[in-house]
Amino acid sequence: MESKDLFFADADSSFDKAQFVILGVPFDGTCSFRKGARFAPKSIREESYNLETYLFDHDIDLEDVPFHDLGDVKCESLENMMGGVGRSVGDILEKGKFPIIIGGEHSLTPPSVRKFENVGVIILDAHLDFRDEYLEERNSHACATRRVSELVGIENVLTIGVRSMEKKEKEEGDKLGLKYIDASKLKKLGIKKALENIEWKSIYLSIDMDFFDPSYAPGVGNPEYFGLSPLDAKECIDILAPRLVGFDITEVSPPFDNGNTSSLAARLIREVIAVVWKAHKKLK
Ligand code: MN
Ligand code: MN
Repeated sequence: MESKDLFFADADSSFDKAQFVILGVPFDGTCSFRKGARFAPKSIREESYNLETYLFDHDIDLEDVPFHDLGDVKCESLENMMGGVGRSVGDILEKGKFPIIIGGEHSLTPPSVRKFENVGVIILDAHLDFRDEYLEERNSHACATRRVSELVGIENVLTIGVRSMEKKEKEEGDKLGLKYIDASKLKKLGIKKALENIEWKSIYLSIDMDFFDPSYAPGVGNPEYFGLSPLDAKECIDILAPRLVGFDITEVSPPFDNGNTSSLAARLIREVIAVVWKAHKKLK
């Protein structure tokens, strides 16, 4: 772990007492366009201080929820980052806690997902991320969904909000049976309908911030218009909450942001903590 000067707001629990553990991954080594995701964990932590602890629509106060910020994984190289993410997520899961990973770029998702057993993965992303390799790198952020599908089985992956892909990756995805709902179809269907046939009992949720329209989230590595809204993502989190076992949020690029993308990422992290806490408490 590297030292950090700022914790995520209200993460005042010790590691041992925490139910949720936040982990930063300041890495953007394979970013292909607007680099800067390495600054996102810090920026998202900073923006978290603007937000109220009380989430009125769930009647949950985050002051009552024990969560811990573990700091940042060392990210000296792609391999170093992947190893660090795997070890840290493994430790968090071994202690029975819920990992929340703040990227960094989307290439952190496969080493995180690798640590889960019997899990379905739902990815919110403008991109298919299904290239077998990109710029001769199989672990590029442009290959994240492909690598995840190899880890958990392609039948256990669903990507929603897609609106950008190359012809070859679409053909390969179709051939291998990748399930995805494109942005226009998702808008017509609505989140509730789109998720109604999901049968996985345990779900890992990965949000690539370019899922959102750039009018909501301008500070991302690869912006794509015709995207979805923050309320769509909130609805998705709220529906999946009882089954969520892990969460990551990636691809914020602070040098291209006006603050709002980091702010939205911070708000979504707080939504996940609140609704998963509430759902798990109900089960007890
Ligand atoms: Mn992605
Ligand atoms: Mn993307």
